[in-house]
Amino acid sequence: MSADLMRRAIALAVENVRCARGGPFGALVAKHGKVIGEGANSVTATNDPTAHAEIVAIRGACHALGTFQLTDCDLYTACEPCPMCLGAIYWARPRASSMPELPPMPQMRALMTRSFTKSCNAHRNRAASR
Ligand SMILES: [Zn+2]
Repeated sequence: MSADLMRRAIALAVENVRCARGGPFGALVAKHGKVIGEGANSVTATNDPTAHAEIVAIRGACHALGTFQLTDCDLYTACEPCPMCLGAIYWARPRASSMPELPPMPQMRALMTRSFTKSCNAHRNRAASR
């Protein structure tokens, strides 16, 4: 993993907030050290609930490569991916991600369940506080 590419993912997140395009989420996909897809959260800017940074970066990289699998690619993300993005990362099958290793499927399911539960609890707590 490259510290420069990780810094670029973080810079995408910061720039996204500075430009008021969306939340502080940035991601990129690199192949052999070259960025082939990058993005920041654009859910509210595009009215697309799937436009999370990781999804935007994966879409760009798949489009650039003309394939649906990111073999030999590395994914850098400025935050912990949500369950939707974890699923997309799993199916795109990058070689590595800035998350510690992409775990095998049983652990991936557990990770997705834990992340989904955390998201649901946060949503429930926000709803209860209104
Ligand atoms: Zn996400």
